Amino acid sequence: MEFKHYRIDKDLIIIGAGVPGICAAIQAARLGLSVALINNRGYLGGNSSAEIGVSVDGADGAQEFNHYSREAGIVDELRIEDLYRNPQKNRYIWDTVLIDAVRKEPNIQVFLNTNIDKVEMNSNKEIQYVSGSQLGSEKRFDFYGHFFLDDTGDGTVGYLSGAEYRMGREAKSEFNERIAPDKADDYVIPSTLTFHAADTGKPIRYIRPDFAIDLTKTDVLKYRVIPKNEFWRFHWFYEATGKINQIENSEEIIQMHRELVYGIWDYVKNSGEYPSEQYDLIYVAPVPGKRESRRLMGDYILKESDIVEQKDFEDTVGHGGWSIDLHALDGFFSKDLVNEHIFLKGIYQIPYRTGYSRNIDNLFMAGRCMSTTHVAFGTTRVMATLSTLGQALGAAAYLCCKYDTTPRGVYKNHIKELQQLLLKYDQYIVGVKNEDPKDMARKAEVRASSIRKCMMEEDEDVRALDNTLGFILPADGLLESVSLKLKASADTELRYKVYEPVKKENYNPENKIAEGVIKVKSSESFIWVDLPVNRSIDKNKIFIEIEANPVIKVAYANKNLTGVVTMEKVSNKGATLVDIDTLKMKEFIWRTLKTTTLCFRTKPEQDVYKAENIINGYARPYGLPNIWLSDDKVEGEFVSLSWPEKKSLSEIILYLDSDLNHRIHFRPADNNLIPEIVKDYNVYYKSGDSYTKLHEVRDNHHRVNRIDAKGVQTDEIKIEFLATNGCPRVGLYEVRVYGME
Ligand SMILES: Cc1cc2nc3c(=O)[nH]c(=O)nc-3n(C[C@H](O)[C@H](O)[C@H](O)COP(=O)(O)OP(=O)(O)OC[C@H]3O[C@@H](n4cnc5c(N)ncnc54)[C@H](O)[C@@H]3O)c2cc1C
Repeated sequence: MEFKHYRIDKDLIIIGAGVPGICAAIQAARLGLSVALINNRGYLGGNSSAEIGVSVDGADGAQEFNHYSREAGIVDELRIEDLYRNPQKNRYIWDTVLIDAVRKEPNIQVFLNTNIDKVEMNSNKEIQYVSGSQLGSEKRFDFYGHFFLDDTGDGTVGYLSGAEYRMGREAKSEFNERIAPDKADDYVIPSTLTFHAADTGKPIRYIRPDFAIDLTKTDVLKYRVIPKNEFWRFHWFYEATGKINQIENSEEIIQMHRELVYGIWDYVKNSGEYPSEQYDLIYVAPVPGKRESRRLMGDYILKESDIVEQKDFEDTVGHGGWSIDLHALDGFFSKDLVNEHIFLKGIYQIPYRTGYSRNIDNLFMAGRCMSTTHVAFGTTRVMATLSTLGQALGAAAYLCCKYDTTPRGVYKNHIKELQQLLLKYDQYIVGVKNEDPKDMARKAEVRASSIRKCMMEEDEDVRALDNTLGFILPADGLLESVSLKLKASADTELRYKVYEPVKKENYNPENKIAEGVIKVKSSESFIWVDLPVNRSIDKNKIFIEIEANPVIKVAYANKNLTGVVTMEKVSNKGATLVDIDTLKMKEFIWRTLKTTTLCFRTKPEQDVYKAENIINGYARPYGLPNIWLSDDKVEGEFVSLSWPEKKSLSEIILYLDSDLNHRIHFRPADNNLIPEIVKDYNVYYKSGDSYTKLHEVRDNHHRVNRIDAKGVQTDEIKIEFLATNGCPRVGLYEVRVYGME
């Protein structure tokens, strides 16, 4: 007897339902491809799944200056939905968010508990089908597709198809990487077995199993700390070794993890150093979260210098920004630092060519099997970053089918179309703007009820200038001066320097353009003090470094204003944060002050929040904030788009302010909404002299809103806003209007 055998035919077969694979599936399905999404475990989400429980992070984590770099697109849609339903970060609720997201797409068929173990080729360059059996159902499936996407993490489909791959660390010399070892080896970043414990309300005894390590008989606690404040859960650095093969030796590695985890729990329970008497283990994952194994080789291999120098790629389709974060190879038992976060100057671009195999013609690879060196992988490996490539590959598969071409053919002939398609689906592609000829909004005349001035006058808070401050604000054209609201308890001098970031996506103090020393008289009350700049800025921002001065107090407003950021320079003592230029530990880092902004004015006023921003092609800050902001009022505020002649509409798309500087990873558990996102609004179209209501939106919490406008003939649409989720003003990045084809 054999398992029953089934044949499944789809346009795109995705093997591995990690977050990048899910984003690829959703993108391809929304573009009309039929998709099989196959996962060998019962939960969606790979390492973020309920089984392993790692949270999704991206370009806005482990960094200093990556403001407004949070990914948009599908991964952000998933994260915002999770924030809404699950501020408590329960991993089982995250699972339900993922299940709902894929079930909402009728073109996706999900196969859980289905392990792919065989690849059949058409020729030595093309996969014909992949095959695997399903746990529990005694079924074997052959999945035939035009294109295949490997998101298995281990690159299993690539390996079985004969795709070129690497595993381990390249030598310094191969890609001229400063961070790489002198000699190449097989070592990788180690894995972690996750666990959780909970307070049961009664004393619980724990007897160390015979197989577990007695940590007190080792010297490991000289080098490693089991945190007192969070003893009840795993920490990422509870790692096994990265010096043995993560695939071939995976069973030995699991056993090593169990010895470690149950040994750590013994120490927590029985050393007397933790208030753990009533705690009991409630979950130990059945499999470790793997960090690194095979990397499949694409037409391009992303390397250290691409990331450090923020190289521009003509085939950029996504971005990253997490630090280069390589861990100690012996994991928990290493005597080295647990890791080093080598902080980048800003975000970097991900070229499309890292997402398809160089020698298998119909194979894409997303997730950690994408084509990078080991060093570059140290930053690309976070899930939101990998998901930007995942989404791009879903769209590329659609273009492959549309033009009957290969993934490489899309690179050669359709890369601009790929980028434009992705922008429409809210992907951030650094420096690329909407040039969609079908978007009628680009030719509309735009009006708005009001426009926010770029200033913050009302003070709500006072802080001593104990730390040096960094103040970032948008500027366009001649900037004579910036004024701050402050008072001094004695006559003093205020020293400042003004920088302009070189790249439009950056926010760092890079190119010094002005500096000065201002005499400040002692005063009882706040005074406005001018800091001369006298430089012309081309659609960018400036970073003013204001030197600490203990006799000065500065006025703040407890509000955010898009594109305006206040930072303070603090000591880096105790943290493993490394300077990218010197590769030495940083002495200081710039830390962002959240929900508070220095009171300021500029001369002349910077007109950066104008209505025309909603059709300027950028749906997020790049150089300037590129957003329309209403004055500090919501109800009754509106924007309208009009044309000289009537148009037949089909769809209106709004890209709302979703505070792209809001780090979802570190969300406060008591708030499940992003305040900036518009909650209630109505859409009208003009018929004759009056407006007819087309659509009413209530309780919205998403950034991208698509409005069906089929059948509408009009020369004007108007969007009237009623409420946000807490922000005192309306923020709208982009409006697109599509007509009947
Ligand atoms: C402990 C730990 C902490 C981390 N911390 C973070 C963090 O805070 N933030 C962050 O963003 N990233 C973090 N990472 C990194 C991140 O989790 C990974 O880089 C990421 O999950 C890789 O995504 P992936 O989809 O390539 O692989 P995975 O997430 O591993 O997903 C691969 C999927 O493929 C399935 N699969 C494998 N083989 C087969 C097969 N033969 N057939 C069918 N299905 C198969 C697997 O079951 C799995 O669901 C961490 C990793 C670990 C281990």
